Amino acid sequence: MRFIIFGPPGAGKGTYASRLARELKIVVISTGDIFRDEVKRNTDLGRKVAEFLNRGELVPDEIVIDVLVKKIQGMPNSKHGFILDGYPRTIEQAKALEKIAKSDAIVRLIVPEWVIVERLSNRRVCKKCGAIYNLKYLKPKKPSICDKCEGELFQREDDKPEVIRERLKVYEAQTRPLIEYYKDKLPILTIECNSPDIPPEVIVEKILQELRKANLID
Ligand SMILES: [Zn+2]
Repeated sequence: MRFIIFGPPGAGKGTYASRLARELKIVVISTGDIFRDEVKRNTDLGRKVAEFLNRGELVPDEIVIDVLVKKIQGMPNSKHGFILDGYPRTIEQAKALEKIAKSDAIVRLIVPEWVIVERLSNRRVCKKCGAIYNLKYLKPKKPSICDKCEGELFQREDDKPEVIRERLKVYEAQTRPLIEYYKDKLPILTIECNSPDIPPEVIVEKILQELRKANLID
């Protein structure tokens, strides 16, 4: 079982991917996580990646592809499958993936803009410990104060509605050609998430149902 998960920023993609991976006994390959880890460990690759990220640029295809190839080839359990999160972002990347591993399906999360704005614009993060709250769905006990460490809560710059809308536009522009590219090649399983407070397990169950319907899992 190998599939690619597409979903807009703020869709909860990472959460669903890790739960699905546990359920299906496969692994998540998140290029974003790999890069963050390399940056944190200050490796050669990490320093290279940080340069692009600090300039607000996308990491070039050749670096992303190289990282993915090494990751997949170095995986002892690659035969058991994976979920790709954050890859591919370009047609070039999609073509490179085909050369090293066949995918079985695309899982596409469709989330209306208002749901994402609602969810992300209510998100607050603790300055001290990084704990995440939501003013509607996961309220701190005292306003603007972290339950765990009494740190001050703040709103990340990219969680502001105007920035969210911009990120969604970028995501759409990036994803549309990829969906077009895959539509005759792989089954595309579409999952609608039409409310800001659907529990993750419900979405995960929907995805599993779609995978079953497509005869990809038992
Ligand atoms: Zn805290």
